[in-house]
Amino acid sequence: MRTISVVPGDGIGPEVIEPALEMLAFLGLDVKLDVLDHVNAETWLRTGRALAAADLDRIRGSAATLLGAVGDPRLSDTPYVREVLTTLRVELDLYANYRPVRLWHDKLSPLRDKAKRGIDCVIVRENTEGLYSGVGGNLSAGSLQEIAFDLDVSSYRGVSRILDFAFSVARTSVCIVDKANAVRHGGTLWQRCWREAVERHPDIDTTHLYVDTAAMKLVTDPTAFDVIVTNNSNGDILSDLTAGLAGGLGVAASANLNAATGQGLFEPVHGSAPDIAGTGVANPLAAILSVALLVEHLGHTREADAVRAAVAAAVEHDRVTPDLGGSLSTRQAAAAVLAELR
Ligand code: ATP
Ligand code: MG
Repeated sequence: MRTISVVPGDGIGPEVIEPALEMLAFLGLDVKLDVLDHVNAETWLRTGRALAAADLDRIRGSAATLLGAVGDPRLSDTPYVREVLTTLRVELDLYANYRPVRLWHDKLSPLRDKAKRGIDCVIVRENTEGLYSGVGGNLSAGSLQEIAFDLDVSSYRGVSRILDFAFSVARTSVCIVDKANAVRHGGTLWQRCWREAVERHPDIDTTHLYVDTAAMKLVTDPTAFDVIVTNNSNGDILSDLTAGLAGGLGVAASANLNAATGQGLFEPVHGSAPDIAGTGVANPLAAILSVALLVEHLGHTREADAVRAAVAAAVEHDRVTPDLGGSLSTRQAAAAVLAELR
C-alpha cells in the first residue's frame, strides 16, 4: 500500500484539503495517508521552524505529497514560506512545475466568444533556478548608492531537463518562451538547449515566442497552445495569466515533479488566501483537481478523468463557490462534485 503525505498548511489550505481528501477516500484507492498537520505557521510562531528533518524524511518516503498552502500575514517579514516551499522543492529536486489550464465551461472565461473555445494547455515552469534562486546581494544598503541585484541563473542541466520534461508531456506541440532578445547569456543557453531538445524529440511540433508576445497571444488566442515551457519567473507570471483565462485561482491545480525520481508534490496554485480564510467560501476545486493530478501520477488515470468530468459537470450546473459566480460554501461545492461522481 502506498503512502500519500499531506500538508494542509495555513489559511484556506486545511479548508480545501479536507474535502479533497474526502474525494480521495471516495475513489477507494489502495493508499494510506500520513498527515503532517504541524507543518504550518503556528509551529513557526512557537518554535521558529516549521519543517523538521524528520518531516522531510516522511515526505521523501511517501509516494506523493498533497499540499494545501503555506503563508501567514503575521510571518510576511520572515523566511517562513520560503523555508517550507523552497526546502521541499530543492530537497526533493522537484524541478518541473506542471500547471494544466482547462476551461471547464465557457462561462468561466473573461474572454470574448471567439477566443475562449477549448482552452486546454499546460504551463511547464522551471522550478529550481532562474530569477528565484536566491543568488544576489545588496551593495551599500541604506545609502543613496544602494544597488540590489538578483541573478537569473540558468544551468545547462536545469534547462535541458525542463525542456525534455515539456516534450514528454506534450500531445501536439511545445512552445518555448523566453526573452533571449534581451536576456543575453541565459537566453543564448536556453536557445542552444532548445535546438538540442528539438533534435531529441523530432516527432513534436515546436515554436518559439518571446515572453511579451506570448502574454499577448495567450489572451488573443489561448487555444493555439498545447505545452508552454519557460523559466521560473516567466512561468510564474504566465501561469497566473492562464489561470485567469480559465476561471481564476479557485480552479488552478499544479504538480511539482521530478521525472527521474518519480517524486511529486501536488498543490492548488493559490496561496493561503488570508482575506477569505475562515469564511467557508474557499473554492475547493483547485485542491480537488490537484488530487486528480496526484492519482493520475500514481497510475490511476481512469479515476483522475472521472474527477475531472465531475468537476466539469458541477461547473456546468452552477454548483460552485462565489468566486465562480455561485453561492455554495466550500463544503457544498465539494459535495456537488462528489454527487456528480456518484
Ligand atoms: P499567499 O501569500 O499565501 O499566497 P495571498 O494573499 O497571495 O496569500 P492567494 O491565496 O494567492 O492569497 O489568493 C489571491 C486572491 O485570490 C485572494 O483574494 C483570494 O481570496 C483569492 N483566492 C485564492 N484562492 C481561492 C480559492 N480557493 N477560492 C476563492 N478565492 C480564492
Ligand atoms: Mg499568493
